[in-house]
Amino acid sequence: MEIKKFSSPPLFLADNLALDFINTEYGVGDDRHDCFDDDRSVIAWLETAGVVPEGVEAPPELLAEARQFRDAARAVVHAAMKSSEADLTVINRILERGRPETRLTWDQDAQRYRVDVRSGADSPAGLLWPVADALVKLVTDEKFEYVRQCEAHNCILLFHDLSKSHRRRWCSMATCGNRMKVAAFRNRKGS
Ligand SMILES: [Zn+2]
Repeated sequence: MEIKKFSSPPLFLADNLALDFINTEYGVGDDRHDCFDDDRSVIAWLETAGVVPEGVEAPPELLAEARQFRDAARAVVHAAMKSSEADLTVINRILERGRPETRLTWDQDAQRYRVDVRSGADSPAGLLWPVADALVKLVTDEKFEYVRQCEAHNCILLFHDLSKSHRRRWCSMATCGNRMKVAAFRNRKGS
């Protein structure tokens, strides 16, 4: 049986987990899409992104927390693009409450030490923590300057341009790139 997980299909085109997460909301006006419309859709996205194991149950308030975190993440990325300050309360709350617990233990059977990592898959902060961690790494990375918003009119998608030439202009060549090239061609021909 095919289970419909998303009302709007998620896009993975940003070359960065945190930006892909922000991009779960895309389009403007009547064409606005939100891949998150219930707790289950947030879990499905995290599964698709490969940051939670399959079969994790969605804790209550996951949707609300994910949307709040997404707004905060978008705000800090846009602020960082302008070298300005943003409200970091929500992001720091997730970093603090969701941090996985790491313990060093002695494995009697294997006669060796091993590390136990317990991630908080039962709380919204624990589930969103990998995305928050990716966000921290992104905005503090020296390559942050290559984070861009798609140049197409009416497109709000963000991506990390890690190409060698750093000349990526569109979220996707197949959609916006093509659309804008056709528009430019029409303009050149004149009307
Ligand atoms: Zn675009």
